[in-house]
Amino acid sequence: MQSWGPPSSPPSAHAWAAHITAANAVGEQGPTVTLLGFNQPELPAAPAYGRASIGDVFSSAAAALGVAAFENVLRLPAAPRICVVLVDGLGKALLKQRSGHAPFLRGVQAQDSSGEHPRTLHAAFPSTTATSLTSLGTGTVPGRHGMVGYDVLDPRQDKVVNLLGQWDPGVDPLRWQPFPTVFEQIAGEVPCTTVSLPHFASSPMTRAALRGSRFIGASNVHSRVEEAAAALAATPKALVYLYWSELDKAGHAHGTDSAQWEHQLEELDAGMKRLAATVPADTLILLTADHGMVDVPRSARIDFSVIPELVDGVRHTAGEPRMVHLYLEPEATADFRDQLMAAWVEHFGKKAWVVSREQAIAAGYFGAVDDSVAARIGDVLILARESIAFYDLRRVRAQAMDVVGQHGSITKSEREVPLLRIPVTAKTAKTGKGKRR
Ligand SMILES: [Zn+2]
Repeated sequence: MQSWGPPSSPPSAHAWAAHITAANAVGEQGPTVTLLGFNQPELPAAPAYGRASIGDVFSSAAAALGVAAFENVLRLPAAPRICVVLVDGLGKALLKQRSGHAPFLRGVQAQDSSGEHPRTLHAAFPSTTATSLTSLGTGTVPGRHGMVGYDVLDPRQDKVVNLLGQWDPGVDPLRWQPFPTVFEQIAGEVPCTTVSLPHFASSPMTRAALRGSRFIGASNVHSRVEEAAAALAATPKALVYLYWSELDKAGHAHGTDSAQWEHQLEELDAGMKRLAATVPADTLILLTADHGMVDVPRSARIDFSVIPELVDGVRHTAGEPRMVHLYLEPEATADFRDQLMAAWVEHFGKKAWVVSREQAIAAGYFGAVDDSVAARIGDVLILARESIAFYDLRRVRAQAMDVVGQHGSITKSEREVPLLRIPVTAKTAKTGKGKRR
C-alpha cells in the first residue's frame, strides 16, 4: 500500500459528507451523490423506506387488517385476511421481461387498475435476502435491525459472521436483531402464520427476522400453496406469509436467462393461480419480492484478493459479490481510506460505485443508523454497477464463483420489486366467515 499513490489527491471525507448532505436535502427523487474528484457515476437515490419499500408491507398489512398501531403507508385496501407471497429474487424488471412464462400474473398486472397501492417497491439495502426479509418482518430499516448483508463484521468478536444459513454460534439472533417483529406485535389481535420450507422453522435467520408466527413447513410449492390457503380459511382474521424460494435458487445456479429459471417462473405462475382459486373470497393476496437479480458472466466474476492495492490494509472483507464490505485496520487513517477508495475506482472505473460508510449512511442507504449497527458496516463499500461480481477467494470457496444470477447492489434490476395484488377467483369462502367483497 505504501508504494501506491493516487494520481491526484482525492477530496477529503469532510468535503464529501458536506456535498452528500446538501444534495440529499434536495428531495427524495433528486440525484443524490456525485463523488467529486473520482469521476464516479452518480449514486442512485436511497431505497424508499417508509414510503414504498419491502419494509412497509407487513406494517401496512397490519393496518389494513385493522390493527390500530400501524400506518398503512402502502394504501392497501382493508381486508380481514391477508396473504403476503414473498418470491425470493423476483425483480420487477425480470417479471416484465419474462411475462410470457407467467400468463396468469401478466393478466393480473394488466387488469390491476384498482387501488392506490404502489406497483413497485424497493428492496432494502443491500438487496439481499437476510436484509430485506428482516425489514419485511420487523418494519424497520437495516440501520436499525442490523442485518446489513449476507455476511458482515461482528465487531464484538472481530469476526465476519453469516446472517443467512450458517449463523455463528457466538451470535444470538435475538440480541443481534432485538426489535419486535410485526408478527409479535399483532399476534394478540390477528393470527399469524408462516408457510415456508421445513428447515427454516427455527433457524436463526427466522428467529431474527420473522419470529412470532405459527410456522408450517412444506417442502414443495404445491403443498405450500395448500397450507397457506388452509391457514387463511382457519380463522376469520389472518395474516399469512408464504415464502417462495425456488426462483432465486434457479437464478443463482443457472441464471435468469435459463430454462430452469423459466420453469420456476411457470411454477410460480401456476401456484398463484391455484392460490387465487382456493383462498377465502375476502382474502387480499399480495405478491412481492426481497430483491431482483442480474446475471454476471464468468469473465466478470473477479477475485479481487489477488490485487494487492485493493486489499492491503483491509482487515476483513464481507458482504456479497455485488456489495462488498471492506473493514480497515483499527489504526487506519482517513487518508488511507481515501487512497484505498481511489485504488478501487482506478481499477474498476464505472463498473462499480465506491463509497465510504459515512457516504452510504448520509445517502440514506441503510435508513437511520444506530451506532451499534454502524460498526457492522464496512469502512468502504463496493457496489457493483455493471454486470460484475467481486470475490475474496482467500475467504470464500472457489465454487462461489459458479453463481450466475446475483444481487446485493442498488441497481434498478436488483432493487425494484413488484407489489402485485392478485384478485381472488374462488367462488365462495371455503370455511371462513368473512363476506365476499
Ligand atoms: Zn438470492
